[in-house]
Amino acid sequence: MADFREALAKQVLILDGAMGTMLQERGLAPGGCPEAMNESAPEVVVGIHREYVEAGADIIVTNTFGGSSAKLGHYGLQDRVYDLNARAVELARQAAGHDRFVAGSIGPTGRFLTPVGDADFDEMVAVFGEQVRAFAEAGADLVTMETFLDIRELRAAVIAAREFSSLPIVAQMTFDDGGRSVLGTPPEAAAVTLDALGVDVIGSNCGLGIDGIYALLEKMRAVTSRPLISQANAGLPELRNGVTVFPGTPEEMTAYHDRLLAIGVRIIGGCCGTTPHPRPYPCYASGFAGALDGMAGAAAARLPFQSQHRRPHWGGCSLCRDRRAHQSYRQEKVHGRTARGQDRLYPSRGPGAGRGGSYPARRQLRYAGGG
Ligand SMILES: [Zn+2]
Repeated sequence: MADFREALAKQVLILDGAMGTMLQERGLAPGGCPEAMNESAPEVVVGIHREYVEAGADIIVTNTFGGSSAKLGHYGLQDRVYDLNARAVELARQAAGHDRFVAGSIGPTGRFLTPVGDADFDEMVAVFGEQVRAFAEAGADLVTMETFLDIRELRAAVIAAREFSSLPIVAQMTFDDGGRSVLGTPPEAAAVTLDALGVDVIGSNCGLGIDGIYALLEKMRAVTSRPLISQANAGLPELRNGVTVFPGTPEEMTAYHDRLLAIGVRIIGGCCGTTPHPRPYPCYASGFAGALDGMAGAAAARLPFQSQHRRPHWGGCSLCRDRRAHQSYRQEKVHGRTARGQDRLYPSRGPGAGRGGSYPARRQLRYAGGG
């Protein structure tokens, strides 16, 4: 088995496309539990994984997006977290073999942390930790976090991945077409926070088509030197004759190929509406794989990616919407209270709000400053 971090340093990796919309086409009842199909219809799940392998994917993502106890609890399956997540890794491995990577997928819990909601930060770490432990013990190669709307919830997932495994971490947030997450976080602030937490790959999935995702990643690139990941939807969904249609074409998506590589995107995949097939929806994975084959020489000449970016100086960077907030961040970092200071980059919260003050000292030390 190749090492994921080594592969990432040497080549651009193709990640697969959508799972949820594929399952809906293949028997997932409206309102049904996608993760339950890992046990009730494993042949369907493996079949989708295999099609992505044939389409050229290097990374196969498990069918565990809603595999947390918080999500499975909607179906009375909250006690099946370990089994359903471990089984999902086995199914992905059946298709991926040992030449490709299996990524354990983690999605949001659907709950909001205090003070926006009533979820407790440490409880959320424990909830994500259950999934991570199953991934690690079942032999996943990495963890991928997808479609997070709240940077603090994503931070809980990252901390859980560290606490319960040593797996590489891909961390992605979802933004709307106004360029902010639902809770108001801009891509730059998300990237700065994730960079400081020391994740392996930073990026954005879902919510937007390839043009929108590219624009977000460009902003992230301005503040981080880490490898980026792009997982665009197949365009923005449209309702046509009562049916949701993703109008993007493979050509539109692959047209961004060079630009994605130029800003240091090292993993390219697809989100909602993408499939392993050319029709009816875009063949995102195979389109990019083909494009990569076709320009292997040019891509190789650019690898490994060298960022032209210089890290901003705190208190003086173009990112600063609030220079004083960054200065207080720097002061807190000097005094070893970085984890709390990061909350100050989070624009929808006031300084010191929420659980920042009770953040366990042990974790502050371990995660402060990242890397
Ligand atoms: Zn999506």
